[in-house]
Amino acid sequence: MKTHTRVCIIGGGVVGCSVAYHLTKLGWSDVVLLERSELTSGSTWHAAGGFHTLNGDTNMAALQGYTIGLYKELEALTGMSCGLHHVGGITLADTQDRFDMLKAERAKHRYMGLETEILSPDEIKARAELVNVEGIVGGLYDPLDGHLDPSGTTHAYAKAARMGGAEIELHTKVERLTPHAEGWEVVTDKGVLIAEHVVNAAGLWAREVAEMVGVYHPLLPMAHQYIVTDDIRQIYEREGEFPHVIDPGGESYLRQEGRGLCIGFYEKKCEPWAVDGTPWDFGHELLNDAFDKIEDSIAFAYNRFPVLETAGVKSVIHGPFTFAPDGNPLVGPVPGVRNYWAACAVMAGFSQGGGVGLTLAQWMTTGETERDPRALDVARFGHWTTPGYTVPKVVENYQNRFSVSYPNEELPAARPFRTSPVHDLLDGMGAVWGQTYGLEVANYFARNGDARYETPSFRRSNAFGPTGAEVAAVRGAVGINELSNFGKYRVTGPNARAWLDRIMAGRIPQPGRLSLTPMLAPSGRIYGDFTVSCLSETEFQLIASYGAQAFHTRWFDTHAEDGVTVENLSDTRLGFQIAGPRARDLLAACTRADVNADALRFFDVRHMTVGMADCIVQRVSYTGDLGYEIYCDAPAQRHLFQTLWQAGEPMGLRPFGMRAMMSLRLEKFFGAWSREYSPDYTAAETGLDRFISFTKNSDFIGRAAAEAERTTPPARQLHAFEVAADDADVVAYEPIWLDGKVAGFCTSGGFAHHSGRSVALGFVPREVAQDGLEAEIEILGTRHAARLITTPLFDADGARMRG
Ligand SMILES: Cc1cc2nc3c(=O)[nH]c(=O)nc-3n(C[C@H](O)[C@H](O)[C@H](O)COP(=O)(O)OP(=O)(O)OC[C@H]3O[C@@H](n4cnc5c(N)ncnc54)[C@H](O)[C@@H]3O)c2cc1C
Repeated sequence: MKTHTRVCIIGGGVVGCSVAYHLTKLGWSDVVLLERSELTSGSTWHAAGGFHTLNGDTNMAALQGYTIGLYKELEALTGMSCGLHHVGGITLADTQDRFDMLKAERAKHRYMGLETEILSPDEIKARAELVNVEGIVGGLYDPLDGHLDPSGTTHAYAKAARMGGAEIELHTKVERLTPHAEGWEVVTDKGVLIAEHVVNAAGLWAREVAEMVGVYHPLLPMAHQYIVTDDIRQIYEREGEFPHVIDPGGESYLRQEGRGLCIGFYEKKCEPWAVDGTPWDFGHELLNDAFDKIEDSIAFAYNRFPVLETAGVKSVIHGPFTFAPDGNPLVGPVPGVRNYWAACAVMAGFSQGGGVGLTLAQWMTTGETERDPRALDVARFGHWTTPGYTVPKVVENYQNRFSVSYPNEELPAARPFRTSPVHDLLDGMGAVWGQTYGLEVANYFARNGDARYETPSFRRSNAFGPTGAEVAAVRGAVGINELSNFGKYRVTGPNARAWLDRIMAGRIPQPGRLSLTPMLAPSGRIYGDFTVSCLSETEFQLIASYGAQAFHTRWFDTHAEDGVTVENLSDTRLGFQIAGPRARDLLAACTRADVNADALRFFDVRHMTVGMADCIVQRVSYTGDLGYEIYCDAPAQRHLFQTLWQAGEPMGLRPFGMRAMMSLRLEKFFGAWSREYSPDYTAAETGLDRFISFTKNSDFIGRAAAEAERTTPPARQLHAFEVAADDADVVAYEPIWLDGKVAGFCTSGGFAHHSGRSVALGFVPREVAQDGLEAEIEILGTRHAARLITTPLFDADGARMRG
């Protein structure tokens, strides 16, 4: 074994081998992969080998599409067979909701270039005659679905990696990882290796490897079972291979295996495995058969696939594999640990392994990824995750693997967990809660007699009425909303301004003022949209998305400089925003400070006492109305609320939640982080370039790319549309049709209650984008007339917001 390497990958499953291949492909050939046993010795060897593109997250679907497309390339490169069977797959829908979901997926596939197809029950029967289509509403056909040989594929990745210069050491177990001047000292049972970077691709043992560097990765193995039948005459006499059939209603997936069938289940009575740690001596063994947990699913399958009832069982495969709380992989640079990278919790290694390898290799070799990595970024979970959180959440995810997932759904497991000091006060006012990054956040407030639960739906839900009432309160009087779910940072030190000038593309404000600014990557893509407030020449407050805390602090750490300290105050600096025409009256009633329009202007920031609390007050509002953000420390938050509430109630003050906030911002066409503003888009594409300071004397990150966009504007541009929707509004990624062709897609949308319009934001080609452009937007399979609008639907001249 070498003694030094640039990258040491721990784990020779499909994921580790894919990372090794992709690193060499992108030019890093000094790579050593260490495997404690043989290649595939974790969960890889007993996988069913199925692959498919369908994924509710668009970037994950694209990553799966890349993985599937890679196999032919791998075969050509290595001369090895991956045992590919591109037989196509049908996902069944046995309810209207499930069919709505498939139609929404099909719509997204249009601009992704995926040739999926909606099928009627008869068309399903014609392609997969062994399916009992009774009760089936329809299905989605994907010609790319198929299966492969897990072992052959892993060895093909390994061969391709070796061809690119990687070395693979088998029977070499990593026992300890110690920080080293050059990166890491990797202590194995065969000697020591110094590695600049370490990648945790240890699959079933990823938790144990993470512990070696002192971090916790939220993942858990689950025991999973599939059954292979004896030969079935209807299968082996069939012309052509039987397609994959996923029956989400029955929690099963089925495909041909040799001359019989193979069926696996994501059963409700599922079992976590090795909760407290994976034994190091777990090897190539399977778990005992456990028919009791799948008996209900089997009974269901007999009805859906009657041929199974008479088929004998040839073998049962019951083995563990790992999941993160949301079922997506944990990939990327691990916040707070230098040169340590995650490539674990990959629950669908044969749909996702290639894309995971590519994403990580891009990240390591260039510092960025080609696509927005947030769906799989290890940083989407924060320091707050614990095994106590992970276990119920992974169980929930496993049980819901084939459930309909609704855009407005708030999953109940492991909640409530993290709450702000006013949680019970808001709860008493009828708050219906959602969760962001572990924190309970009020989505809306149920009124007397309303259910305290939002019905999951693709259409307008029971939150529609209460949300409308909250919007009316804000636009008509004044509303109050918690600021706990903002990410908040304190930046201090003699070099704070210079550092911010480099990190942020926009102008950094003078003392007492605030500014809005994008934070760009070198490629010009958006890594954050921040409010920067200057409290003094050496102290600034940054506000961004609460859910992006680890993503942003990792970026700050990567670009750290002497003379600057960045503290994450997201959970300690809390507060409220008040918004609406009476917001100024309310603030004035609670403070002796002068808050008149001349004394506290739009974009001013001040320290002031509100009630008894020492607060930072800034005049800005995401609602597009006259509004203030009032920040205090956590112990003062209840007092601040009570002060504002007592003064505000006679003025018509009402609490409002995230649903109302999203509705309010839509009629001003304000973009949102993770919807309009994400690493998938650039500043000029989204219009955020209006906040870039090209005149400032700073070589800010992303400057060259942003300047290039000024010379050559990007091909697409974000715009607002008014949609002739009926009972369902745009959520995200719906196609925008122009002249009968898909020409763009939506980033978000919803009902703007105050103006009474259904609004969508989305990208269309720059050359055709103009006020009044007639388009169509496809919602749940139906095209609706849409018109591009450039004048905000509320306070178009900003008189109310700035007045
Ligand atoms: C029954 C079953 C059916 C499945 N069906 C499918 C399917 O149809 N399609 C699909 O896409 N996926 C399927 N999967 C999931 C698939 O198996 C996993 O997604 C995949 O195997 C994950 O691969 P990995 O490389 O991340 O982890 P693993 O395969 O667990 O590999 C990790 C490797 O790291 C090594 N290692 C760990 N610690 C160390 C150390 N300290 N030093 C050196 N080496 C170490 C281990 O020996 C192991 O070889 C199935 C899983 C099961 C259990």
